[in-house]
Amino acid sequence: MTNQDILLHKTLKDYFGYEQFRPLQKEIITSILNGEDNLVIMPTGGGKSICYQLPAILMEGLTLVISPLIALMKDQVDALNANGIPAAFVNSSQTDIENSSIIERVKSKEIKLLYLAPESLAFFEQLSQVCEISLIAVDEAHCISSWGHDFRPAYTQLSFLKKRLPNTPLVALTATADKATREDIANQLDISNAKRNISSFNRANLSLEVRPAQDRVTQIIDFVKSRPNESGIVYCLSRKQTEQLADRLKKSGFKAAAYHAGLPSDIRSKIQENFIHDTTPIICATIAFGMGIDKSNVRWIIHYNLPKNIEGYYQEIGRAGRDGLDSETILFHSYADVIQLRKFAEGSGNEEVQLAKLERMLQYAEATSCRRNILLSYFGETATEKCGNCDVCNHPPTFFDGTVIAQKALSGIYRLQEKEPLNVVVDFLRGSQNAAILDKNYHLLKTYGVAKDISWKDLQQYMVQLTNQGFCEIAFHENNALKLNELSKEVLFNGMKVSLTRPVEFIKADEKTPQK
Ligand code: ADP
Ligand code: ZN
Repeated sequence: MTNQDILLHKTLKDYFGYEQFRPLQKEIITSILNGEDNLVIMPTGGGKSICYQLPAILMEGLTLVISPLIALMKDQVDALNANGIPAAFVNSSQTDIENSSIIERVKSKEIKLLYLAPESLAFFEQLSQVCEISLIAVDEAHCISSWGHDFRPAYTQLSFLKKRLPNTPLVALTATADKATREDIANQLDISNAKRNISSFNRANLSLEVRPAQDRVTQIIDFVKSRPNESGIVYCLSRKQTEQLADRLKKSGFKAAAYHAGLPSDIRSKIQENFIHDTTPIICATIAFGMGIDKSNVRWIIHYNLPKNIEGYYQEIGRAGRDGLDSETILFHSYADVIQLRKFAEGSGNEEVQLAKLERMLQYAEATSCRRNILLSYFGETATEKCGNCDVCNHPPTFFDGTVIAQKALSGIYRLQEKEPLNVVVDFLRGSQNAAILDKNYHLLKTYGVAKDISWKDLQQYMVQLTNQGFCEIAFHENNALKLNELSKEVLFNGMKVSLTRPVEFIKADEKTPQK
């Protein structure tokens, strides 16, 4: 061990009480201490905070932490102070007097870490005049990107930080960033040369399962009945659903509660507390539940509805099994949800991105290859081994020789010059006569209508399987256009065989059928 290593371990032990660093923590801390910019992608619970809190202790000046979660700032600051690390926060909820007393404490070098909401950045100028800023940490950095799932306009102002303090190391941290978002973060914060630290998103102890949503309430009751005393969360899309489901569970004799942002805050705190202490082990919640809750023995997560995107889904299932023990996750998939989510996305003001993310979520839900590998590849990890802990691995679908279908599909993408998204390619291959086809004279091209014999839904599913198996790709930044790749060429020109499986019937799960 070098002297620096010894110092880092001692600081970890003295201030945080831990014996060992988690994966990547030491590398990140060392790099920050060397003055380098860093981009940190680590799943929730991975231990991101220590990556900037520990250097803050060792560095000469102040560490500025930009965080959007005003509600959690106080807890974080309290926890730091309890560990003997002087910290404070500034946000709009405080008075001018409180804020100027903080300036005084910064000036006298009493404070090591200062948490700042992006809305309070005006404070930055005052700070930079009275102290040396040694490190800037941007937490929840995905909020800067409109490619992310939680875009906050106030975050876009942060680009000035690197310009103002070009020699101060900046570390951007997030739990949720696909490849496109990740690069967007680095560009916008002006740290494109930052060291990339991407820890594995694989949570092998979580089983993954997707079920058709038919009779989901009965399915949920059966599920919890066979798991007495286990604690879990059911995520629902609407407040009403959380209440209805909690009622049904209570009527069936389970200790359950509904939780959503419409409840008074004292009731919400009470519910959280009862959950943490296992008094109410089952919570039916909207996504408002779970942020900042550190409960290690959540044994299962159920999604009553299809989530809006993979980032949110991954974060939510990640709340199970923090203790490392086996935990279960189930997602109920129905087309009624898809239609509703599409409507939400269309009214969101960020329509294109949201729809693209929903499309990826749908592909996950309809996957016919290992679900974990799909999740991992979404977060930029390559995994080739099957996981053995998802429903697809455990009950592999039966495959047939789909080479001819694949050849037709990939030729379609080729004829449309890799410019069109999946639904247009399907329309084209099926010889549809709608405006999207006729306006561009696509009906005059070769391969128009070659897959007439396959239903729209089935063909769409086959194309999803092809993308999930890597035979073609979706260009996220180009309107979701389907693109060919090396593997496509193998199929088209070198006779590579492709296996497909018959689509699972999710439509039966609803009374409603999808609109095309
Ligand atoms: P994140 O911000 O990535 O969600 P946190 O920084 O809140 O995660 O850390 C999650 C939990 O793991 C916290 O309880 C933290 O104290 C703990 N933790 C972090 N680093 C270590 C470590 N090296 N050893 C043991 N526990 C750790
Ligand atoms: Zn698997």
